[in-house]
Amino acid sequence: MSLRVRTYERSKRVHVLTACPFCGYEFARNERRHKHLSDHDPEDAGLAPLGEIPADHDAPLFQEVSVRAD
Ligand SMILES: [Zn+2]
Repeated sequence: MSLRVRTYERSKRVHVLTACPFCGYEFARNERRHKHLSDHDPEDAGLAPLGEIPADHDAPLFQEVSVRAD
């Protein structure tokens, strides 16, 4: 698991990313996560490259649902 959850007084919960979900790099305790994550490209997350629009970008995410009246 690359996420650590800490619970502080008054039940405040903090979620800390301990490893990069894209390459598995393990973060140092106080390392700024966004600096490493911003070095990744969209393709690392399974997305289209920057500036490219996939041909099926406007395809419906779900099939049409039929409503049956009883
Ligand atoms: Zn990474």
